[in-house]
Amino acid sequence: MLHIKELHASIDSKEILRGVNLDLKPGEVHAIMGPNGSGKSTLASVLIGRDGYDVSGSVTYEGQDLLALSPEERAAAGVFLAFQHPVEIPGVGNMYFMRTALNSLRRQRGQEELDAVDFLALAQERMKLVEMDQTFMSRSVNEGFSGGEKKRNEILQMAILEPKLAILDETDSGLDIDALRVVASGVNALRSEGRTMLVITHHQRLLDYIVPDFVHVMAAGQIVHSGDKDLALELEANGYAGLTPRSAQVG
Ligand code: ADP
Ligand code: MG
Ligand code: MG
Repeated sequence: MLHIKELHASIDSKEILRGVNLDLKPGEVHAIMGPNGSGKSTLASVLIGRDGYDVSGSVTYEGQDLLALSPEERAAAGVFLAFQHPVEIPGVGNMYFMRTALNSLRRQRGQEELDAVDFLALAQERMKLVEMDQTFMSRSVNEGFSGGEKKRNEILQMAILEPKLAILDETDSGLDIDALRVVASGVNALRSEGRTMLVITHHQRLLDYIVPDFVHVMAAGQIVHSGDKDLALELEANGYAGLTPRSAQVG
């Protein structure tokens, strides 16, 4: 599904990703943990094709060269990112925004667009997953939403767009325990055989709810450790201290 090989990325000649290697198979949930500033969000941004980065290395997604695709083409191919800091878009209705996003994907895939009535039915069904009520659909995108409501809205968007590769960047940050449960159960409901998830988090707590198949630790722009869900528990107990980037290891 996704093969990342020796991925490097810099911005203004500052190297942030320093050779990331990762293999994700269909249906798997991978967690990426790691200290602040280690490059987790940068990895997510590079995968969805945000511009401004100097990128080298290779990323193969379903047999295609992902790095050669535009952000729109990546989205149409099923790559989705739930942002760490969802943006507010005053004046743009949430319903309109999500329908436009979905129809843009459908157009690029040669599928028929959904009209307002069909979209509303879809949205209402998916809103149950994140326990959101319909008033959020008539408000401007994220405007005045609480931190937790913004994150739910990201998961709602994911539920509507049905990506094949879903990247969640610190979707748990700023959530109280109830919101965390809602978000996690929404994510769990969307786990499926054909869908791969990359869950970026600082906290082991999220992984009690979204149990990953693999856990990776990122430090200084590299994946320095990989393991199963128990690695997250070890990190919780021992912290990131003592983890050394591969390039700095002796021998
Ligand atoms: P994480 O998500 O793991 O906290 P980030 O990927 O956000 O880390 O950032 C990694 C490093 O890259 C940090 O030192 C950050 O300051 C730097 N960085 C990220 N984006 C930019 C940017 N647009 N310009 C300059 N430096 C950046
Ligand atoms: Mg951070
Ligand atoms: Mg980040």
